[in-house]
Amino acid sequence: MLNFTVKQLAADLAAKRASSVEVTQYFLKRINAMGKALNAFISVDEEQSLAAARAADRLIAAGKAGPLTGIPLAHKDIFCARGWLTTCGSKILSNFVAPYDAHVIERFNAAGAVIAGKTNMDEFAMGSSNETSFYGPVRNPWDTAAVPGGSSGGSAAAVAARLAPAATGTDTGGSIRQPAALTGVCGLKPTYGVVSRYGMIAFASSLDQAGPFAKTAEDLALMLNAMAGFDARDSTSLERAPEDYTCDLAKPLKGLRIGLPSEFFADGVAADVAKAVEQAIAELRKLGCDTVEVRLPNMQLSVPVYYVLAPAEASSNLSRFDGVRYGYRAPEYADLLDMFRKTRAQGFGAEVKRRILIGTYVLSHGYYDAYYIKAQRLRRLIAQDFVEAFGKCDVILGPTSPTTAFRIGEKAGDPVQMYLSDIYTIAVNLAGLPGMSIPCGFGDRNHPVGLQLIGNYFAEAQMLNVAHQYQQATGWHLRMPPGTG
Ligand code: GLN
Repeated sequence: MLNFTVKQLAADLAAKRASSVEVTQYFLKRINAMGKALNAFISVDEEQSLAAARAADRLIAAGKAGPLTGIPLAHKDIFCARGWLTTCGSKILSNFVAPYDAHVIERFNAAGAVIAGKTNMDEFAMGSSNETSFYGPVRNPWDTAAVPGGSSGGSAAAVAARLAPAATGTDTGGSIRQPAALTGVCGLKPTYGVVSRYGMIAFASSLDQAGPFAKTAEDLALMLNAMAGFDARDSTSLERAPEDYTCDLAKPLKGLRIGLPSEFFADGVAADVAKAVEQAIAELRKLGCDTVEVRLPNMQLSVPVYYVLAPAEASSNLSRFDGVRYGYRAPEYADLLDMFRKTRAQGFGAEVKRRILIGTYVLSHGYYDAYYIKAQRLRRLIAQDFVEAFGKCDVILGPTSPTTAFRIGEKAGDPVQMYLSDIYTIAVNLAGLPGMSIPCGFGDRNHPVGLQLIGNYFAEAQMLNVAHQYQQATGWHLRMPPGTG
């Protein structure tokens, strides 16, 4: 079972070679052993998981199983799940048990999937290394001295270490793709608006998007089939006809035009990453793809633009955490204002405070035009670059992250260095485009390298097709961290 895909596990369940209770117990055992060493989970609740597994077994017995029925999934602790502690990696929510399900959780419940546990994450999804979590850093299964990436580091590590066959995450500036790259798994961020944000704790609402982690492109498609779809409770949820994201997987790639942005292959990328990515491109050429150079001239602005807009939205979104309605409250205070101050001072970590300060500053009278409005204008230019690039190609390819996994502590004291680890992913969020990362080899120190695919709006099925065909021809996605088995 260890290295089984979701698809293979579902086949075993359907053929009664295993029950959901057995599969769930198998992964819970791994979560309790290796999951603890990696610090990948914030909560596990065997009783709730096994109750869901028993319900799934009844569905299977009744012949009512779908492709995810009975499959245990690990969910980032940013999704509200009824009856589950939902902390968002923060002290300020360390006692919050969600009274309702996020849209994403609702969808997986309706599909008969099992919640295997809630995964560790950077506090309020702010980070690229999983070091800002109130619950401590997550370790990379390939090298426990290294970070797994962030902010969905726990979910990525869980799939990489085979603690769950698939997981969920969220991606505001790279938080699905970058940890997927650093841990050698697949991760997909859909087009903005394809997956409802209802019940997903907000960081930067115009950028946040939920998506799946898995070992294969095919499993990502199965996960996305469950997650995607209109939801009236999220005003930015898009009303579109339902799509089957597996429909194009088998298409031959002959004649597909791959765009290679020169900006992605310039100075900033580490030699070992560039080498693996170039080999992947050569492999895709062998499969019949044509390559064309494209330009994203405003891409260099994406990190500074993001670090105006995302903190601005965060400062507003996080104002609701005040110790009144839910979550942590400072034990001692003089009056109401003092209670707000102490609660927020004690409840938030340093990175979250930094973002709130930046966000409040750029939104303040006198700076709003100079920073916030300016950044919005540049965001438009960055999106326009992609419109032009997609005039010449079908899918854009490049590295997901400029380096492989770095050491825990290595960048923790230097926020700008940390922010730069998302240099290739952030523009995709600013433009609202879909993007994904798939393993494409190993760099120095045997650390995984991720290949980033960027699609045009709603081209998830096409990206998944490219990834699936690549995975039919190569075996990187099946490699397991040493000591996993
Ligand atoms: N690393 C980026 C940040 O810290 C992106 C995080 C994310 O995508 N949630 O904001």
